Amino acid sequence: MPDCKNCNARLRWSQILRANLSYGITECNKCGSKHQISFKSRFVVYLMTTFPFLIYGFFLTPFTNVFLTLITGFVIACVGFLLSPFVVKFEMRSEL
Ligand SMILES: [Zn+2]
Repeated sequence: MPDCKNCNARLRWSQILRANLSYGITECNKCGSKHQISFKSRFVVYLMTTFPFLIYGFFLTPFTNVFLTLITGFVIACVGFLLSPFVVKFEMRSEL
């Protein structure tokens, strides 16, 4: 889990998930400094969610039913998304 670059307070898991869903900006609870997810981390989040979904849906699915494939692929994407706060890196932004 990433720390605040200013005061080293740990950023919360739910905070980072919210940042992933929005513009990638989160605020430290302790000192209030703003952090943005780095471009590389955005790409990693993509690799952990959309990429497994597509690979599973196109190549690995054991189902012939499209609906079952979509549901299972969605669950895989959700698991990747829930794990993403453990790998993302933030950069401090002072101009926000
Ligand atoms: Zn801080």
